[in-house]
This record gives sequence, structure tokens and C-alpha cells, in this order.
Amino acid sequence: MERIYLDYAATAPCDPLVLEAMKPYFSEKFGNPSSIHSFGQEAKKATEDSRLILADFLGAKPEEIVFTSGGTESSNFALFGMFGALEKKGNHIITSSIEHHAISEPCKILEKRGCAVTYLKVDKNGLVDPREVLKSITEKTILISIMHANNEIGVIEPIAEIGKIAKEKAVAFHTDAVQTVGHIPVNVNDLNVDLLSLSAHKFYGPKGVGALYIRKGTRINKFLHGGDQERGLRASTSNVSGIVGLGKAAALCKEKMAQEAEFQSGLRDVLIKGLLARIEKSYLNGHPSLRLPNNVNISLEYIEGESMLLHLDMLGIAASTGSACTSSSLEPSHVLLAIGLPHEIAHGSLRFTLGRWTKKSDIDYLIEVLPGIIDRLRKMSPLYEKK
Ligand code: PLP
Repeated sequence: MERIYLDYAATAPCDPLVLEAMKPYFSEKFGNPSSIHSFGQEAKKATEDSRLILADFLGAKPEEIVFTSGGTESSNFALFGMFGALEKKGNHIITSSIEHHAISEPCKILEKRGCAVTYLKVDKNGLVDPREVLKSITEKTILISIMHANNEIGVIEPIAEIGKIAKEKAVAFHTDAVQTVGHIPVNVNDLNVDLLSLSAHKFYGPKGVGALYIRKGTRINKFLHGGDQERGLRASTSNVSGIVGLGKAAALCKEKMAQEAEFQSGLRDVLIKGLLARIEKSYLNGHPSLRLPNNVNISLEYIEGESMLLHLDMLGIAASTGSACTSSSLEPSHVLLAIGLPHEIAHGSLRFTLGRWTKKSDIDYLIEVLPGIIDRLRKMSPLYEKK
């Protein structure tokens, strides 16, 4: 049976060209970039080349890039590092109610340390209102952190507009761009951000490596303490192969992104139309047009997301219900609740995310088989019988 992967937002396979670029750095080019001998300098050059590529991709300066272990670390670094540096100035952070746990969990910890956190509501499409951001800013506000695009419903937030407000009010602005880098244009100057988190495995690079962009002049405390790697901001021996992979992945995305986004958004729209037309009582979640080119999220009444996933998996189709991180929990997704879905409908959601190797025939097959699965499951549902 051919397996069809439609869970690219959870993780994407490493591009074979990325893997090829990484391989020498596990063996013959194994040096530690902090060593002054030739082995070390060879590794150092590779990490600095990657920094240049990534900085160019984001419109940043190379010295504004700090390599990390991924999106979670980057966002933890941004939040704890900014709070640590600025808590004497103020103790208020503004974020949204639909952030990834990599933001919301650190926020909860900061609340216990005396930080006041405003969790902005979103509208029914998942959009944050920049006017609400403006209204929430006080003289104690030290940071605004709003995600670029949501990992579950794919909505793209008005980051440039919020960034403009933050700049006018002289408040630092962070965005979690884990779902957008490599998929849609991300330029730190166009977006008016001071800090930006990204993760290589979401754009065909390896897992366990990412970066935090920190605009020059931003006051931030270091996150990992130890050696003086990454200009003293993030200790630990550099993950050279991972950093090389991240750089190669960014270079490939720079070349392919525009075309891929166009192709995927075409397939996305075919999938949305196909499913909504063929399955009664199904609804699209997230903004109809301000959404990632690869994201489809639908709710289906009277069925559990998990049972749909298992049936799809039996036919070789991999999808997700909510985010990869929340699907192991019984609680419905906080994002779907935040856009106003009642619990029972939030439980019946499916997310399909497309990527570099998704084919039109994959989408056609899904549109062909999903209505039958829904039909069978609804026939077994006592809730559906009553309607
Ligand atoms: N932020 C968002 C929006 C994500 O989708 C994810 C991963 O699902 C993360 C952060 C965490 O990234 P990482 O897996 O690299 O730690």
C-alpha cells in the first residue's frame, strides 16, 4: 500500500539534498567549531556559511542569528531571556490565546514569577486584532509575542501591522514563525519584528535544530549557561551537521518556495472544496484566504478526530487532529476552542498539511475515501442517529 503523508506541519522529511550536505559533518568533518585547529576551523566555516544563508533568507544580519535546538528552545529563549533582561523595567507580556505550547507554557511559568500576561482573544477565523494589541500596551509592557501563522488552523496573523504598533510604542516584538519560514516570505524588516523563532524540521531540514533571530540592540539575557558559543548567548557545542542542514534547507526553500506555495495552495483549495462539498456538516476552520498554502483544517460533526485518524491510517493516509503536540491529549485543542467551536465539534477536527512531495493524486485519493469513512463512523454514532 502506498502511504500518503499529509502531516507536514507536525514534521517534514529531510530533503535528500539536505541529508547529503549534512553527512560529512558527522564523520570526516567532525570538528568542534570552537577549536582553533584546522578541524575546528573547517566546522566553524560550515556553521558561519549557514548563518549567512539563513540571515540572507530572513533579511537579517548574520550576527543577529543564534542557532538553537529548535522552535521550542528559541521561543523559551525569547520569553525568559527578555523577561530576565527587562523585568526591572516592566512585568507585562502580551500574547494570544492560540499560541503553541512553546509560548503558552513559558508564559504560565513567568506568571508564577510575577509577570502579568495578557492573552488576546482571536476572532472566529483565528485572527488577532492589532487594535487590541495597541489597547493592551501599558507602561509595564516589555514584550509582545504573537505567532506568524497558527500550526493547527493555518491562519496568518497581521504581524507587520502589530510590529508597527510595537515599534511606535517601543515595545520588543517576538513572533513564532515556526510554521511560516520556508513556506511563505518571512523578512524580519518587513514584519517589523525584534525576535523570531524558527525550526529546521518544518522546512525539510533535520529535527533538533532551529534559530532565534535577535535584532541588533535588543536587550536579552542568555538562555543556556556554560561556554561562550553563539556570541555568549547560547552555550553548548554547536550542532554542526544540524546547522549545515538548516542552512541547506533554507537555501532550497529560497529557490523553491514561491512555486511550491502556488502549487500547494492550489491543491489545498481543491481539497477544501472537495471535502466540504462531499461531506455534510463539515466546516473549514481558520481564515478562508489568510492561511498557510499547505493547511486544511476541517471540523466534522458527530465524530471523534481520533477515530477518523485511525481509519485514514488504515488506508495509508497520515493526518492529524489538532497539533501533533495536542493530539495525545483528551482535551480538545485550545485553538479550536479559542475560535469559538463547542467542545464536541472541536473534538471532531482533522488537519491535513501538504508539502514538497504531495501529489495531486494524493489529494484526489483523500477526497475519494474520506466521505466513506465519515459515513461509516456516523452510522455508528448514537448522536448522529438522533438527528
Ligand atoms: N511553534 C510552532 C507554531 C510549532 O508548530 C512547533 C512544532 O510543532 C513548535 C513551535 C515547536 O518547534 P520544535 O519542534 O522545533 O521545538
